[in-house]
Amino acid sequence: MKTDTPRPIRLKDYQPPAYLIDKVDLDIALDPSRTRVKARLRVKPNPAFAGSGSAPEPLRLDGEHMELASVTLDKAALAAGQDYKLTDTALVIPLPPQKAFTLTLVTIVDPDANKALQGIYRSRGVYCSQCEAQGFRRITYFLDRPDVLSRYTVRLEADREQVPVLLSNGNPTERGTLAGGKRHYAVWSDPHPKPCYLFALVGGDLSSIASTFRTASGREVDLRIYIEHGKEARAAWAMDALKRSMAWDERRFGREYDLDVFNIVAVSDFNMGAMENKGLNIFNDRLILASPDTATDAIFEAIESVVAHEYFHNWTGNRITCRDWFQLCLKEGLTVFRDQEFSADERDPIVQRITDVRQLRATQFAEDAGPLAHPVRPESYIEINNFYTATVYEKGAELVRMLATILGEAQFRAGMDLYFERHDGDAATVEDFLTCFADASGRDLSQFKLWYRQAGTPSLVCTLSHDKATRTAELTIEQILPATPGQPGKKPMLIPIRLGLVGGNGQDIPLILEKSGPVADGVLQLTKRAETFRFVEVPSRPVPSLLRGFSAPVNLTVDLTDRDLEFLMAGDADLFNRWQASNAFATRMLCQIARGLAEGKRPVRGLAYAKALGASIADPALSPAYKAELLRLPTQADIARELARDVDPGHIHRAHRQLLKLVGTTLGAELEALYAEMAPRGAFSPDARSAGKRALRNAALTLLTARGEPRDMTRLARHFHDAGNMTDEAHALFLLAHEAGPDSTKALARFHDKWKGDHLVIDTWFAAQAVSSLPSALDTVVALTTHPLFSLATPNKVRALIGNFALQNPAQFNRPDGAGYQFLADQVLALNAFNPQIASRMLSAFRSWRALESGRRKLAKKALTRIAKAPDLSRDVYEIVSKMLDQPG
Ligand SMILES: [Zn+2]
Repeated sequence: MKTDTPRPIRLKDYQPPAYLIDKVDLDIALDPSRTRVKARLRVKPNPAFAGSGSAPEPLRLDGEHMELASVTLDKAALAAGQDYKLTDTALVIPLPPQKAFTLTLVTIVDPDANKALQGIYRSRGVYCSQCEAQGFRRITYFLDRPDVLSRYTVRLEADREQVPVLLSNGNPTERGTLAGGKRHYAVWSDPHPKPCYLFALVGGDLSSIASTFRTASGREVDLRIYIEHGKEARAAWAMDALKRSMAWDERRFGREYDLDVFNIVAVSDFNMGAMENKGLNIFNDRLILASPDTATDAIFEAIESVVAHEYFHNWTGNRITCRDWFQLCLKEGLTVFRDQEFSADERDPIVQRITDVRQLRATQFAEDAGPLAHPVRPESYIEINNFYTATVYEKGAELVRMLATILGEAQFRAGMDLYFERHDGDAATVEDFLTCFADASGRDLSQFKLWYRQAGTPSLVCTLSHDKATRTAELTIEQILPATPGQPGKKPMLIPIRLGLVGGNGQDIPLILEKSGPVADGVLQLTKRAETFRFVEVPSRPVPSLLRGFSAPVNLTVDLTDRDLEFLMAGDADLFNRWQASNAFATRMLCQIARGLAEGKRPVRGLAYAKALGASIADPALSPAYKAELLRLPTQADIARELARDVDPGHIHRAHRQLLKLVGTTLGAELEALYAEMAPRGAFSPDARSAGKRALRNAALTLLTARGEPRDMTRLARHFHDAGNMTDEAHALFLLAHEAGPDSTKALARFHDKWKGDHLVIDTWFAAQAVSSLPSALDTVVALTTHPLFSLATPNKVRALIGNFALQNPAQFNRPDGAGYQFLADQVLALNAFNPQIASRMLSAFRSWRALESGRRKLAKKALTRIAKAPDLSRDVYEIVSKMLDQPG
């Protein structure tokens, strides 16, 4: 068992730093195993720090995993043990001068040995860095916290031939060759003060594509994307997305770019998606590189959205940063909201909203319902890397969206403008952010603030009654706030509910409240635990269309009959809710079928749902992309969450297959017609309309394949064989991987041979086998861990094979014999030794284990307990596994 339990860090213990570092000069000589970092830090006591007494506060600099060569204070060399103390995690100067001084540190780091991918490391021969959240302390000793802002000048030096490209933050100021001509250097200077987590460097033999952007005030910015040689054409889409993002942020939020250059570098080994380092974004290459034959539409869309996200951080994150890591949602939730709005404007706003809501429910709602539930602003952590979660990001974005819904567009924009004006250059808090909206609108937002403090997904229970005699309708809404770890009781929240009351003719009835008259913007604001809203001039019983546009991140229970759902599916004026009605109907059917299987009863069929779906997709007014969303069933994870307890993923999987087959059979003719109608014509284009057609055709293919007739299998094999782009090729491959037989074997072999030389595309081959519903899936996955193209040290490979198996293949991961759990435990423990961040990510696949039926629950607990008892657990894994096992269950 563990003896030294890691201690949590708490928000309530926040104190300003005792010292500030206003200037940083770095001189870095790159070398594969001995990179030498000379850091000159201009340190001064912080006037805002209230010390405990008259004695000077020691200067405690964070640092780990490096060698310290020398320490100089002004011009005097300091002696270890006497003038400073060195521990595994810090350098402490007990009696620093109480005036400004210069501290010069020389450290040695080993990029090649760095498999944690934090600090400086090498990826396929390219030096790069990752400092968020706490990687800078692996480069030099520093006040590694976001409220210490410094101006950086960086000199990089390396072998001229092997490392021709040298990049850092800010603007390039100087470059040259050293005597002898073998080595060269480049100097970069960033005029904007920044926290050290935004520091970055890149050195390597890279190719690039270039473009320019003229800002609204007429400044010319040089844009460049660095990639591996030969991949130039694959970076064009990312460049296009970058320019559209820059124009959009000016148009929508009045935000201009603020340096002479903007660089993006794609690297292959990366723990996250991408990183917004000032002026030098570093990306996982799967989120930069795309061409029609190598990337699916989903990847094109993800590239557009992530390029925008990282760019938007320049204002929400970099110009205004976070005071401490508890405020992570301040930059992430807000920036996700901004990238979602960008995608909505660039694409179809309804389809975008559906995509975002699907994602929120699948990941964040699941997180919120289990042992890892935490507030959007957590109050304590052991390892901050564990808080880059769906709750902080996606729910954080929903909170900003609710704020916009509550205040209305004009007041929301006024609040944003005030935030940019008031806090530019600050390390801010959630309170600072909310105060701007309160000041700009005159509204009291204190109840809204609970959304940042209270974890868990609220449930709304709604009932509608109608009185014909008085022509009134009463809508009663109760909010139920579930207990979550550490938060047994909760206060009622402010919940905006956008709604319509749909009359018999399919038209919305004007919303007039008896007490206060017309409902502004169609949004009710629930503030009490339960409230009844009485509407007047309602001639007949309407059907309530609630939570339009998903106006709040809540679960909704409303007493609608199958006929009501059919009615909303056929003609709700709000297109989001038309989809929502369809999704609710499908969910209802899937739950009934799964429950029927559990109870050994003859299962329900769901014919009414299939027919209503058929009527919806026949509507010529709906776009192909939207119809594709209608045809996509709720995921198995959605159904598991809906069932909430005694979940049998095997039954859910069977229910899913049954309903797919029923829809495929019932709507066979219509789907075949769509499949033919949506066939590709002309050259490939990644735009949203063309992607929508491909999505609809592939959705039809999925349902037709589910019928399982010989001609359906022939169609599928042909679809794979004739595919003219990766969207179609990959879609068919995933469907084929669910089938046992020669077609499947041939397709997988062909895909492997075609793409084995491409380290990105081959991940699709790993993924397709990882999510296969065949009973042999686990054996295949185990075998693939020894495939020559697989490596546990490359996060993309781990995510493609192990992550997809554990998170996207519920039936096989949750095998009744527990072998899936034991496999994941083995992988988590192996990763724990060198990349704790990825280990802990994989471990989160157990987040819903308490909801499983008792047999699987016992086996999952056994696997978790084995992890918990293992020696040398990282802080990352220790924190997650303790939370998983912490509660009774
Ligand atoms: Zn971000």
